[in-house]
Amino acid sequence: MKHIHSVRGMHDMLPDVGKCWFELECILRNIVTKYGYQEIKLPLLEYTEVFTNAIGESTDIIEKEMYSFLDRSGKSLTLRPEGTAGCVRAGIEYGILHNSIKRFFYYGPMFRHDRPQKGRYRQLHQFGVEVFGLSGPIIDLELILLVRNIWKIFNIEDKIELHINTLGNKVVRSKFREKLVQYFEDNLRFLDIDCQRRLKNNPLRILDSKNPNIKNLIENAPSIIDYLDAKSEKHFFRLCELLNKLDIKYKINPTLVRGLDYYNLTVFEWLSKDINNVQNAVCAGGRYGELVGRMGGKSTPAAGFALGMDRLFNIIKDTINPPIRNIIYLLHSSETEIIVKIMKIADDIRNCCKYDVIVHGDEFLNINNHLKKAYKNNAKIVAILDEDTFIQGRILIKCLSNNSDQYINITEIVNFVNNYIDVE
Ligand code: ATP
Ligand code: MG
Repeated sequence: MKHIHSVRGMHDMLPDVGKCWFELECILRNIVTKYGYQEIKLPLLEYTEVFTNAIGESTDIIEKEMYSFLDRSGKSLTLRPEGTAGCVRAGIEYGILHNSIKRFFYYGPMFRHDRPQKGRYRQLHQFGVEVFGLSGPIIDLELILLVRNIWKIFNIEDKIELHINTLGNKVVRSKFREKLVQYFEDNLRFLDIDCQRRLKNNPLRILDSKNPNIKNLIENAPSIIDYLDAKSEKHFFRLCELLNKLDIKYKINPTLVRGLDYYNLTVFEWLSKDINNVQNAVCAGGRYGELVGRMGGKSTPAAGFALGMDRLFNIIKDTINPPIRNIIYLLHSSETEIIVKIMKIADDIRNCCKYDVIVHGDEFLNINNHLKKAYKNNAKIVAILDEDTFIQGRILIKCLSNNSDQYINITEIVNFVNNYIDVE
């Protein structure tokens, strides 16, 4: 048979990584819950138009990154490349967004046909939050504080910096777009093919280009902040004022436009300062007040962010310490009544004590072999039930921390394990 392997850019997580990843999920869930966010679980598959309507035709995701296919009834479906569109779709479908304040969070795999490399995967994982019904800059501030708190928990505040910008409203963007097109047309010879195409479809996205040869050109481009209307300007500078008062460090980055079309007003991105880290965007978000209306709902203010869990994990993986589990190994010989007894004991301990119980589960009892495994897995206790001890109504207990052996009555084992925790 041909060697089989996972799909390019989609990775397995073996248990050692899986348990750290689980810990990361718990920490993130816990912190957003403390801010009043509630989990919304969304399907991995949506009708393709959910994304094409939301994200915008001339974006990386829609142009080249979606995993789309026809299902058996000929409908085009897409594996979700991000969470916001599905969340808004669900909110409109259940009529829960209009005239109310909602704070949602979600996390899980997203799928993008990107070029795989470190920090860039085809199955990536995002932890996202979305807020509906709040139009002022205070909620932008809360989102930023929330993310900063996540960095604080992992002790990486100094490794990540905050960039913010505003995209104004539609009128502002259209005025700015004209100026930008003029500027890039004057410098057409420097633009790569991708940017020349963007110049026609979506010139703001040239500012998002990662081509190092036009870095200078982009930095000297007109800045949207000079074209803001009074309302957008007030929103943006109020946010800056609040950030200043709270002593949050940030950079105003006029080239920050985000890769998705649905943003307006505030946008922000948290970038790793590590210069060796090419995929340095760890978290990105902003306001998207036009999206609910654009997807067929009643106009509703909205804001959110998506945190790249894979990129965060790469930064913190060595510092994550999943809680240590208390483990007991139960070893048994293979007579029917002994297996029946040991299975009952195992469940009694699982149900009454703070211990995980591993029954050795093999037909043959090689005590030395199984003891080695128990040591390797940091078990605290090994209990051995064989024919001799069973006939006497006893079970042999080995406490691995001090290498002591003792026999106890089988009926005493749950008590023993509970007390063992107490004396530790
Ligand atoms: P990039 O500019 O790196 O392509 P993006 O603008 O496409 O990022 P968003 O759509 O804003 O990314 O997604 C939010 C976050 O998800 C990013 O900041 C990043 O941390 C993470 N992310 C995006 N694409 C990938 C990917 N292919 N692999 C791993 N993480 C990703
Ligand atoms: Mg991208």
